[in-house]
Amino acid sequence: MRKLLIAANWKMNMYRQEALELTRGIVEQTRFFTFVDIMIAPPFTALEIVKSEIQNTQIQLGAQDVFFEESGAYTGEISPGMLLDAGCAYVIIGHSERRQYFGETNEIINKKVSVALKNHLIPILCVGETWEERNQGRAFLVLNQQILFGLQGIDNEKLSSIVVAYEPVWAIGTGKSANKEQVQEVHAYLRDVIKEFTSSNEMAFNIRILYGGSMSPKNAQEILSLKDVDGGLIGGASLKIDSFSSLVQIAESVQKVKEQ
Ligand code: PEP
Repeated sequence: MRKLLIAANWKMNMYRQEALELTRGIVEQTRFFTFVDIMIAPPFTALEIVKSEIQNTQIQLGAQDVFFEESGAYTGEISPGMLLDAGCAYVIIGHSERRQYFGETNEIINKKVSVALKNHLIPILCVGETWEERNQGRAFLVLNQQILFGLQGIDNEKLSSIVVAYEPVWAIGTGKSANKEQVQEVHAYLRDVIKEFTSSNEMAFNIRILYGGSMSPKNAQEILSLKDVDGGLIGGASLKIDSFSSLVQIAESVQKVKEQ
């Protein structure tokens, strides 16, 4: 049975004092929810302070990016080993903002997924089409390529821990989430692509596929209840104690229903 994961992507927000207060509030409000997994990905500068606040809780730490080399002369980059050393369990890879503003290609993303897995980090591989691609009827082709290139060369044993996040670019930070039919259709499609790629029904069934794109306490119940949705990658709504904690609470009740 897949367990819902509610993952916070704080992006380039939160000074350390703000990060401390937000984490403290989230810990306080979510401490009795045990049916869901929770992850917080702060900026690198706040990893340590968040880590100290989530000690002895069920919340896990994540990073928003990683470099694909393990050490060396790469000024400004952070290696997977460094993330592990900082206490990270997860790392977000291939977010559309990295693809769009930092020129990350499927090839770069594939290297990052591979090196993250090698270093025992759980990659959250983000895929998603732009509005233009959807309008041109190319959404599924784009998603297919992002998944197949992203996972290229990675064997089934390593792949079993990966998380995929479907994040339609047009829904990120716009307040306009995909509707439930669009979300379920893409998630089922991604699971099929993974099934074909791994030649394993079991693997495809067990991989968690999150939805991301303007998820909020208003639409979460509907989206999280969908058959092939296994949680959310949350941007804007993860920056407030109340909205993020409500999302965790909604996921908790949805998970209980899914388990019945
Ligand atoms: C994101 O950037 O991963 C995201 C889903 O953002 P938002 O929730 O703000 O749309």
